[in-house]
Amino acid sequence: EKQQVVALITGANKGIGRAVADQLAALGMTVLIGARDTDRGAAAAAEVRAAGGDAHAVTLDVTVPATAREAARWIEERFGHLDVLVNNAGITGSGQVRPEDARDQLPSTVDVDMVRAVFETNVLGVITVTNAMLPLLRRSPAPRIVNVSSTAGSLTVNSLPDGPLAALPASAAYSPSKTALNALTVQYANELRKDGILVNAADPGFVDTDINAHSGFLTTDQGAASVVRLATLPPDGPTGGFFNESGPVPW
Ligand code: NDP
Repeated sequence: EKQQVVALITGANKGIGRAVADQLAALGMTVLIGARDTDRGAAAAAEVRAAGGDAHAVTLDVTVPATAREAARWIEERFGHLDVLVNNAGITGSGQVRPEDARDQLPSTVDVDMVRAVFETNVLGVITVTNAMLPLLRRSPAPRIVNVSSTAGSLTVNSLPDGPLAALPASAAYSPSKTALNALTVQYANELRKDGILVNAADPGFVDTDINAHSGFLTTDQGAASVVRLATLPPDGPTGGFFNESGPVPW
């Protein structure tokens, strides 16, 4: 009998995470909708089931380690293993504003507590959730971890004087958090390579969601595509890379 393929997506109650859940469910995976708000998670899981998918809500605030431990305990009891972890939950720290309006991220005037909160979610939360789930991932025949990053985290793109980010205000919070997430991706990949666990960072592109006050031009389904591809890599697929829909993104 074919083993059930189980995927956990953090922050999957809406936006890109929700679209990733829809697409992995459509591929036949059992999707676990991680959500910090139990009711929002349950509503999203019910919608995925209504569309024919196998979905369950899991209460998970990535900044609260006890919720990650409890989620892992429940997944172990219910499924015994985990095949795919998508670290998608993220915040900008600026609230729901257009990137070009996020002047509160300027390095010279930024509120350090805002930087701390952004790193707590986008970076430390990934370590918390990944480490809670690793024992379950190690029981999978083909474990995959995808960290949802951003071009905003690319040092190369940020350094281009006429590059796509040059018109935006400088950022001491969101952009460095995604750079740190990229760094973590490489380090996890290096440690877990010998165990056959593929760890990659995805750049979804500029997607129409709440995070940017719906100024993005891609649909959530389009944004989810690069994430889904990395979540379904073949055994000889890459690890420790950073990819968008068209291929590798420079660090
Ligand atoms: P949304 O704001 O639509 O979704 C963010 C999700 O993360 C929500 O489900 C939110 O939950 C959840 N979340 C936030 N904080 C926590 C937390 N502490 N614990 C658990 N869940 C949390 O934004 P997107 O879908 O656009 O963003 C998803 C990811 O994609 C983020 O990592 C973002 O940085 C990244 N990204 C997005 C781009 C874009 O253009 N949209 C571009 C590049 C990267 P809640 O509903 O409770 O707030």
